[in-house]
Amino acid sequence: MKRKTPPLGAHVSVAGGVHTAPERGRRIGADVVQIFSKHNTRWMGKALEEDDVRAFREETDRTGVSVVAIHCAYLINLASSKETVRTRSLYALEDEASRASMLGVPYLVMHPGSCGEDPAETGIARIAEGLRTFGRFPKGVTLLLENTAGQGNSLGRTMGELKELLDAAGTPPDVAVCLDSAHLFESGYDIGAEEGWERLLEEMRSFGILPRVRMWHVNDSKSAAGSHVDRHEHIGLGKIPGSAFRRILTQKGFKELPMVLETPKDGEDEFEMDLRNLAALREILAGGPEGS
Ligand SMILES: [Zn+2]
Ligand SMILES: [Zn+2]
Repeated sequence: MKRKTPPLGAHVSVAGGVHTAPERGRRIGADVVQIFSKHNTRWMGKALEEDDVRAFREETDRTGVSVVAIHCAYLINLASSKETVRTRSLYALEDEASRASMLGVPYLVMHPGSCGEDPAETGIARIAEGLRTFGRFPKGVTLLLENTAGQGNSLGRTMGELKELLDAAGTPPDVAVCLDSAHLFESGYDIGAEEGWERLLEEMRSFGILPRVRMWHVNDSKSAAGSHVDRHEHIGLGKIPGSAFRRILTQKGFKELPMVLETPKDGEDEFEMDLRNLAALREILAGGPEGS
Protein backbone atom coordinates (compact mmCIF):
# COMPACT_ATOMS: atom_id res chain seq x y z
CA MET A 1 0.00 0.00 0.00
CA LYS A 2 1.27 3.43 -0.90
CA ARG A 3 2.10 5.53 2.14
CA LYS A 4 0.28 8.86 2.24
CA THR A 5 2.66 11.79 1.92
CA PRO A 6 1.85 15.50 2.14
CA PRO A 7 1.41 17.56 -1.04
CA LEU A 8 4.67 19.54 -1.26
CA GLY A 9 5.36 22.85 -2.94
CA ALA A 10 6.60 26.41 -2.67
CA HIS A 11 5.57 30.02 -2.78
CA VAL A 12 6.05 31.07 -6.41
CA SER A 13 6.05 34.37 -8.29
CA VAL A 14 3.12 35.50 -10.44
CA ALA A 15 5.25 37.79 -12.63
CA GLY A 16 3.37 37.80 -15.93
CA GLY A 17 -0.01 37.11 -14.32
CA VAL A 18 -1.62 34.70 -11.86
CA HIS A 19 -1.93 32.08 -14.63
CA THR A 20 1.88 31.67 -14.66
CA ALA A 21 1.96 30.16 -11.14
CA PRO A 22 1.00 26.54 -11.98
CA GLU A 23 3.76 26.30 -14.64
CA ARG A 24 6.30 27.65 -12.15
CA GLY A 25 5.12 24.93 -9.78
CA ARG A 26 5.50 22.29 -12.49
CA ARG A 27 9.07 23.42 -13.17
CA ILE A 28 10.06 22.62 -9.58
CA GLY A 29 8.07 19.39 -9.38
CA ALA A 30 5.59 20.82 -6.87
CA ASP A 31 2.17 19.35 -6.14
CA VAL A 32 0.85 22.67 -4.82
CA VAL A 33 1.95 26.31 -4.74
CA GLN A 34 1.20 29.47 -2.77
CA ILE A 35 1.08 32.93 -4.38
CA PHE A 36 0.55 36.61 -3.72
CA SER A 37 -2.39 37.46 -5.97
CA LYS A 38 -1.13 41.03 -6.39
CA HIS A 39 1.79 43.21 -5.31
CA ASN A 40 2.40 42.25 -1.68
CA THR A 41 3.12 45.79 -0.49
CA ARG A 42 0.07 47.47 -2.05
CA TRP A 43 -3.41 47.77 -0.58
CA MET A 44 -5.31 46.96 -3.77
CA GLY A 45 -4.39 45.24 -7.00
CA LYS A 46 -5.59 45.45 -10.58
CA ALA A 47 -8.95 43.68 -10.79
CA LEU A 48 -8.85 40.14 -12.13
CA GLU A 49 -10.50 39.88 -15.55
CA GLU A 50 -12.46 36.93 -16.88
CA ASP A 51 -9.53 36.14 -19.22
CA ASP A 52 -7.11 35.99 -16.26
CA VAL A 53 -9.38 33.54 -14.47
CA ARG A 54 -9.87 31.37 -17.57
CA ALA A 55 -6.10 31.22 -18.25
CA PHE A 56 -5.47 30.40 -14.59
CA ARG A 57 -7.91 27.48 -14.63
CA GLU A 58 -6.53 26.16 -17.93
CA GLU A 59 -2.99 26.22 -16.58
CA THR A 60 -4.05 24.52 -13.36
CA ASP A 61 -5.66 21.71 -15.39
CA ARG A 62 -2.76 21.41 -17.84
CA THR A 63 -0.01 21.23 -15.22
CA GLY A 64 -1.88 19.38 -12.47
CA VAL A 65 -0.41 21.89 -10.00
CA SER A 66 -2.99 23.62 -7.86
CA VAL A 67 -2.65 26.96 -6.11
CA VAL A 68 -3.55 25.99 -2.57
CA ALA A 69 -3.18 29.41 -0.95
CA ILE A 70 -3.02 33.13 -1.51
CA HIS A 71 -0.82 34.89 1.04
CA CYS A 72 -2.37 38.25 1.96
CA ALA A 73 -0.44 41.48 1.43
CA TYR A 74 1.76 42.40 4.41
CA LEU A 75 0.05 45.78 4.87
CA ILE A 76 -3.12 44.21 6.24
CA ASN A 77 -3.20 44.78 10.00
CA LEU A 78 -6.53 44.33 11.74
CA ALA A 79 -4.80 44.96 15.11
CA SER A 80 -3.48 48.44 14.24
CA SER A 81 -4.08 51.26 16.71
CA LYS A 82 -5.03 53.47 13.73
CA GLU A 83 -8.64 53.16 12.70
CA THR A 84 -7.84 54.16 9.11
CA VAL A 85 -5.39 51.24 8.85
CA ARG A 86 -7.98 48.83 10.24
CA THR A 87 -10.60 50.06 7.76
CA ARG A 88 -8.21 49.83 4.79
CA SER A 89 -7.20 46.37 6.02
CA LEU A 90 -10.81 45.20 5.90
CA TYR A 91 -11.24 46.45 2.31
CA ALA A 92 -7.95 44.81 1.33
CA LEU A 93 -8.99 41.54 2.99
CA GLU A 94 -12.25 41.64 1.06
CA ASP A 95 -10.26 42.15 -2.15
CA GLU A 96 -8.01 39.15 -1.31
CA ALA A 97 -11.01 36.97 -0.44
CA SER A 98 -12.80 37.79 -3.67
CA ARG A 99 -9.65 36.98 -5.68
CA ALA A 100 -9.35 33.62 -3.91
CA SER A 101 -13.00 32.93 -4.62
CA MET A 102 -12.72 33.87 -8.33
CA LEU A 103 -9.64 31.66 -8.77
CA GLY A 104 -11.03 28.79 -6.71
CA VAL A 105 -8.12 28.98 -4.23
CA PRO A 106 -9.20 27.39 -0.92
CA TYR A 107 -6.92 29.16 1.58
CA LEU A 108 -6.13 32.77 2.34
CA VAL A 109 -3.13 33.11 4.70
CA MET A 110 -2.97 36.20 6.89
CA HIS A 111 -0.63 37.34 9.67
CA PRO A 112 -2.91 38.17 12.60
CA GLY A 113 -1.41 41.67 12.96
CA SER A 114 0.62 43.86 15.25
CA CYS A 115 -0.67 46.24 17.92
CA GLY A 116 2.55 48.18 18.53
CA GLU A 117 2.73 49.53 22.08
CA ASP A 118 -0.79 48.45 23.02
CA PRO A 119 -1.33 45.33 25.14
CA ALA A 120 -1.89 42.04 23.30
CA GLU A 121 -5.50 41.80 24.56
CA THR A 122 -6.31 45.12 22.87
CA GLY A 123 -4.83 43.87 19.60
CA ILE A 124 -6.69 40.56 19.82
CA ALA A 125 -9.97 42.38 20.50
CA ARG A 126 -9.41 44.59 17.43
CA ILE A 127 -8.70 41.58 15.20
CA ALA A 128 -11.82 39.85 16.50
CA GLU A 129 -13.90 42.95 15.85
CA GLY A 130 -12.46 43.16 12.34
CA LEU A 131 -13.27 39.53 11.59
CA ARG A 132 -16.80 39.91 12.95
CA THR A 133 -17.31 43.04 10.84
CA PHE A 134 -15.98 41.17 7.83
CA GLY A 135 -18.52 38.41 8.33
CA ARG A 136 -18.39 35.16 6.40
CA PHE A 137 -15.76 34.42 3.78
CA PRO A 138 -16.94 33.49 0.29
CA LYS A 139 -17.99 29.86 -0.08
CA GLY A 140 -14.95 27.61 -0.49
CA VAL A 141 -12.49 30.13 1.01
CA THR A 142 -11.00 29.63 4.50
CA LEU A 143 -8.93 32.30 6.23
CA LEU A 144 -5.79 30.83 7.83
CA LEU A 145 -4.23 32.81 10.66
CA GLU A 146 -0.47 32.23 10.54
CA ASN A 147 1.62 31.89 13.70
CA THR A 148 4.37 34.50 13.91
CA ALA A 149 7.94 34.79 15.21
CA GLY A 150 6.74 37.48 17.62
CA GLN A 151 8.82 40.14 15.88
CA GLY A 152 7.75 43.74 16.52
CA ASN A 153 4.90 42.77 18.84
CA SER A 154 3.23 40.70 16.15
CA LEU A 155 0.33 38.68 17.54
CA GLY A 156 -0.11 34.93 17.11
CA ARG A 157 3.32 33.95 18.48
CA THR A 158 2.03 31.18 20.75
CA MET A 159 -0.64 28.48 20.54
CA GLY A 160 -2.36 30.29 23.41
CA GLU A 161 -2.57 33.52 21.40
CA LEU A 162 -3.86 31.65 18.34
CA LYS A 163 -6.56 30.09 20.51
CA GLU A 164 -7.50 33.50 21.91
CA LEU A 165 -7.73 34.87 18.36
CA LEU A 166 -9.91 31.97 17.18
CA ASP A 167 -12.12 32.24 20.27
CA ALA A 168 -12.42 36.01 20.00
CA ALA A 169 -13.43 35.66 16.35
CA GLY A 170 -16.15 33.26 17.49
CA THR A 171 -14.30 30.37 15.76
CA PRO A 172 -16.39 30.51 12.59
CA PRO A 173 -15.88 27.46 10.37
CA ASP A 174 -14.12 29.55 7.74
CA VAL A 175 -11.24 30.61 10.03
CA ALA A 176 -8.41 28.14 10.79
CA VAL A 177 -4.62 28.04 11.22
CA CYS A 178 -1.45 27.85 9.10
CA LEU A 179 1.75 26.98 10.97
CA ASP A 180 5.19 28.20 9.90
CA SER A 181 8.10 26.05 11.14
CA ALA A 182 10.58 28.98 11.19
CA HIS A 183 8.15 31.19 13.13
CA LEU A 184 7.52 28.38 15.66
CA PHE A 185 11.26 27.96 16.21
CA GLU A 186 11.94 31.71 16.39
CA SER A 187 9.06 32.31 18.77
CA GLY A 188 10.53 29.80 21.24
CA TYR A 189 9.17 26.33 20.38
CA ASP A 190 12.18 24.01 20.34
CA ILE A 191 10.84 21.79 17.55
CA GLY A 192 14.32 20.39 16.89
CA ALA A 193 14.15 18.42 20.14
CA GLU A 194 11.75 15.54 20.76
CA GLU A 195 10.74 17.11 24.07
CA GLY A 196 10.05 20.50 22.48
CA TRP A 197 7.97 18.90 19.74
CA GLU A 198 5.91 16.92 22.25
CA ARG A 199 5.35 20.09 24.30
CA LEU A 200 4.11 21.90 21.18
CA LEU A 201 1.70 19.05 20.34
CA GLU A 202 0.45 19.01 23.92
CA GLU A 203 -0.22 22.77 23.83
CA MET A 204 -1.94 22.39 20.48
CA ARG A 205 -4.15 19.64 21.87
CA SER A 206 -5.06 21.51 25.03
CA PHE A 207 -5.89 24.72 23.13
CA GLY A 208 -7.84 22.88 20.45
CA ILE A 209 -5.46 24.10 17.72
CA LEU A 210 -4.53 20.64 16.39
CA PRO A 211 -7.76 19.99 14.44
CA ARG A 212 -7.72 23.55 13.05
CA VAL A 213 -4.34 23.34 11.27
CA ARG A 214 -4.93 23.28 7.49
CA MET A 215 -1.48 24.01 6.08
CA TRP A 216 2.24 24.31 6.90
CA HIS A 217 4.95 26.70 5.77
CA VAL A 218 8.13 24.62 5.91
CA ASN A 219 11.08 26.97 6.31
CA ASP A 220 14.42 26.66 8.00
CA SER A 221 15.51 29.61 10.14
CA LYS A 222 18.57 31.82 9.84
CA SER A 223 17.98 33.23 13.32
CA ALA A 224 18.30 31.44 16.63
CA ALA A 225 15.62 29.61 18.58
CA GLY A 226 13.54 32.05 20.60
CA SER A 227 15.15 35.08 18.90
CA HIS A 228 11.78 36.53 17.76
CA VAL A 229 13.61 37.49 14.57
CA ASP A 230 11.86 36.31 11.39
CA ARG A 231 14.54 35.18 8.86
CA HIS A 232 13.81 32.25 6.58
CA GLU A 233 16.59 29.95 5.36
CA HIS A 234 16.96 26.99 2.97
CA ILE A 235 16.15 23.56 4.40
CA GLY A 236 19.24 22.09 6.03
CA LEU A 237 21.24 25.35 5.96
CA GLY A 238 19.64 27.05 8.96
CA LYS A 239 19.32 26.46 12.68
CA ILE A 240 16.41 23.97 12.58
CA PRO A 241 17.55 20.33 12.66
CA GLY A 242 16.26 18.01 9.90
CA SER A 243 14.56 15.91 12.58
CA ALA A 244 12.06 18.77 13.08
CA PHE A 245 11.04 18.62 9.41
CA ARG A 246 10.70 14.84 9.59
CA ARG A 247 8.31 15.25 12.54
CA ILE A 248 6.21 17.86 10.72
CA LEU A 249 6.07 15.85 7.48
CA THR A 250 5.14 12.57 9.14
CA GLN A 251 3.05 13.57 12.16
CA LYS A 252 -0.47 12.10 12.25
CA GLY A 253 -2.87 14.93 11.55
CA PHE A 254 -0.28 16.88 9.53
CA LYS A 255 1.05 14.40 7.00
CA GLU A 256 -1.73 14.95 4.49
CA LEU A 257 -1.74 18.76 4.75
CA PRO A 258 -0.16 20.97 2.07
CA MET A 259 3.46 21.88 2.96
CA VAL A 260 4.79 24.97 1.22
CA LEU A 261 8.33 26.40 1.21
CA GLU A 262 8.87 30.14 1.64
CA THR A 263 12.64 29.99 1.44
CA PRO A 264 14.77 32.70 -0.22
CA LYS A 265 14.98 32.75 -4.03
CA ASP A 266 18.66 33.58 -4.21
CA GLY A 267 19.86 31.07 -6.77
CA GLU A 268 21.09 32.05 -10.24
CA ASP A 269 17.97 30.50 -11.65
CA GLU A 270 14.51 31.27 -10.25
CA PHE A 271 13.81 27.57 -9.74
CA GLU A 272 17.19 26.30 -8.54
CA MET A 273 16.74 26.73 -4.78
CA ASP A 274 13.13 25.50 -4.70
CA LEU A 275 14.23 22.34 -6.54
CA ARG A 276 17.00 21.84 -4.00
CA ASN A 277 14.74 22.45 -1.00
CA LEU A 278 11.99 20.15 -2.27
CA ALA A 279 14.61 17.44 -2.87
CA ALA A 280 15.79 17.92 0.73
CA LEU A 281 12.24 17.50 2.06
CA ARG A 282 11.67 14.38 -0.08
CA GLU A 283 14.94 12.91 1.18
CA ILE A 284 13.81 13.49 4.77
CA LEU A 285 10.44 11.88 3.95
CA ALA A 286 12.22 8.88 2.45
CA GLY A 287 14.12 8.47 5.73
CA GLY A 288 17.38 9.90 4.42
CA PRO A 289 19.82 12.31 6.09
CA GLU A 290 18.31 14.65 8.62
CA GLY A 291 20.99 17.30 8.34
CA SER A 292 22.40 19.10 11.31
ZN1 LIG B 1 3.41 34.64 6.23
ZN1 LIG C 1 5.06 31.70 6.59
